[in-house]
Amino acid sequence: MGKKIVVAGAGHGGLIAAAKLAQAGYDVTVYERKIKSELGYDWEDAINLHIFAECGLETPDPEKIEFNGDMKYYNPNLKAPLVVYANGKGSAMFERKALYAILLDNAEKSGVKIIYSTEILGHVMDGLRVVGIRTSDAVVNAHREIDSPGLNTPLRSRLPVCCNVDRDYGYGECFYAYRAYFDKVPGHDPDVSYEIFLMHQGERGISWVVTKDSYVDVLIGRMAPMNKQKLAKTLDEMRAFSPQIGETLLRGGTQEQIPVRRPLSVMVCDGYAAVGDAAYMTEPMSGSGICASMRAGLILAETVIEDTEEQYSKETLWPYNRKYMLHFGKNFASIDILKNVLLCTEVEGVNFLFDKGIITENDMSFGGKGDSAMAFSDLVARAARGIGNLPVLLRTAGALSKGDNVKKVYEGIPETYDEKAVLKWKAEIMENTTLMQR
Ligand SMILES: Cc1cc2nc3c(=O)[nH]c(=O)nc-3n(C[C@H](O)[C@H](O)[C@H](O)COP(=O)(O)OP(=O)(O)OC[C@H]3O[C@@H](n4cnc5c(N)ncnc54)[C@H](O)[C@@H]3O)c2cc1C
Repeated sequence: MGKKIVVAGAGHGGLIAAAKLAQAGYDVTVYERKIKSELGYDWEDAINLHIFAECGLETPDPEKIEFNGDMKYYNPNLKAPLVVYANGKGSAMFERKALYAILLDNAEKSGVKIIYSTEILGHVMDGLRVVGIRTSDAVVNAHREIDSPGLNTPLRSRLPVCCNVDRDYGYGECFYAYRAYFDKVPGHDPDVSYEIFLMHQGERGISWVVTKDSYVDVLIGRMAPMNKQKLAKTLDEMRAFSPQIGETLLRGGTQEQIPVRRPLSVMVCDGYAAVGDAAYMTEPMSGSGICASMRAGLILAETVIEDTEEQYSKETLWPYNRKYMLHFGKNFASIDILKNVLLCTEVEGVNFLFDKGIITENDMSFGGKGDSAMAFSDLVARAARGIGNLPVLLRTAGALSKGDNVKKVYEGIPETYDEKAVLKWKAEIMENTTLMQR
C-alpha cells in the first residue's frame, strides 16, 4: 500500500485525484461533511462532455443530453442585447447529482474510502508541513493532504502566512448565486431561450432566465448576499420582464457562493495542495468550475505519482501548480480582467460599452468555448471608437492593456519552486491584475 493521502471534502477535483491515486496504489480517504445523498445541487450545470473521456470515465450518451442553445446578453438598460450563437457547440446540461453519482462510483470502485458526515476543522502541522487533518471526530495523520472542500475551505485560510498560499478572497471575487426552477407560464416564450442580464437591475452581478419547455431556470447572482425580501423583490421585477416565470418553486431555491476571480497563484505547500473552488478554479465571468476542477484533479494525481521519492513538498508539488496555470489559469486570469472592468464600471458605463459596440458578441462567447482566450488588443482598438465617454474609455482601455500582459505574466511562472522567484511572480500577478483598491 502506498502512502496515505487525505482528501478534504468530496469536491469534483478531489474525487478525480482520489480515484487516480487509489488506482495507482495509494491509500486514499475522503472526508466529507454531508451524507452521500445530499451531495451535489438540485439542478443541471453546463459542462463539456469531453471531460468524461479525459478522466477515463464512460461518456454519457449525448442523445440523452440536452445542449445549451444561443445566449442573449442584455446590458443594464436592456436596449443593446448581444446574441451569441451556439452553432451546435453549446455546453451539455448535466444533472449535478448524476455527475456526483458517477464521480463517487468511480472513486469507490478505485478503492477510495469515503467517510461521510465528518466535518474537517483544520490542519495538523509539523512546522510548515501539513501532516494531517483535524475532523469533528479525530486527528488523522497523512503524508499528503488535498484541499477540496470548496470556496470556504477551513484549510487554505488556516495555513501559516509564510506558506505563501493566499488565505482569503475580497469583494468582487465571490458571487452569491440564488438558483431555482419555477413552473412555466405558457404563452411567453422569448426568441432566445437563454437570457443573461448583466448588471441586472443596476446592481453588480448577473441574472439569467432560461426558458425550457416545462419550467424556467432562474439565477440571481450578486456580489453580496441577498436576504429573503431582496430575493422576492428581485424575482417580482424579473417576472415583469419575463412573465413566463411562474410562482411555483419546482427545484433548487438556495443561495450558494461561487468564486469569480483569477486562480490562487500558489496552490501548494509542504504536504498540501488545493484543488477546485478552494483554489478559485472557476472561469471568472461564467462561474463554471466543474471541468477545470476535474482537469486539475488529473494533473494533481499525475504530479503526486511522479513524486517517486514521496516527498510531497512544495518543490515536488510545484509541477501541478505550474501545469494548471499554463493550461487553464492564464486564460481564466485574463477573463478576470474583463469581469473586473465590468465590476468597476458604473451602469451608464456598461450601457455605453454595449451601445457603442465596444463589447461584442465575440467577447461574450467565452462561456461555451473551451478556450477562453480574448484578443485584448482588438478590444482596445474598439474602445478607441467610444470616445464619447472618456472616463469609462480610459478606465476600460487601461484595464484591457493590463489584460494584454496578464497571460504573459502567468506564462512566466517559475519552472521550479524557488521561493524568491515565486514571490516575484506573485507580485507581478498582483501588479497586473489589481484594478481596484479593496
Ligand atoms: C448556482 C451555481 C451554478 C453553477 N453552475 C455551474 C455550471 O453550470 N458549470 C460549472 O462548471 N460550474 C458551475 N458552478 C460552479 C461549480 O459548482 C464549482 O466550481 C464546482 O462545484 C467545483 O467546486 P468543488 O468541487 O471544488 O467544491 P464543491 O462543489 O463546493 O464541493 C466541496 C465539497 O466539500 C464539502 N465540504 C465543505 N467544507 C467541508 C468541511 N469543512 N469538511 C468536510 N467537507 C466539507 C462540501 O460538502 C462539498 O461536498 C455553479 C455553482 C453554483 C453555486
